[in-house]
Amino acid sequence: MKEKHFQLLIFSPPKAEMGINMKRLRNFNEDWVKSYLERNIKSFDVCDCEDCRLDIMAIALNKLPPQYVVTEKGAIFASVNEMSHQRMVDLATAVTEGVVIVSSRPSH
Ligand SMILES: [Zn+2]
Repeated sequence: MKEKHFQLLIFSPPKAEMGINMKRLRNFNEDWVKSYLERNIKSFDVCDCEDCRLDIMAIALNKLPPQYVVTEKGAIFASVNEMSHQRMVDLATAVTEGVVIVSSRPSH
């Protein structure tokens, strides 16, 4: 009985009056991965349809630690100069791993 109550608390949708705009909470890495993939997709030997790009992003983002930030209006303004060399290497490696997996086993 207690367990059921616990599950309801977790999975029921939040009440509107909580007023939390989740769009303001962003995983920085989502933007980096999307940007990196879109700039380099043509150089990879992989299908560039939306499904495959999203699959690559999902694989890459699951390999990277999340980098959550709170933004004013959901917009993140940052340049590649603000990123450490190690983070760029980690990001490129994660995307490449996603490309390898999706190119060998596309979901369509
Ligand atoms: Zn595809």
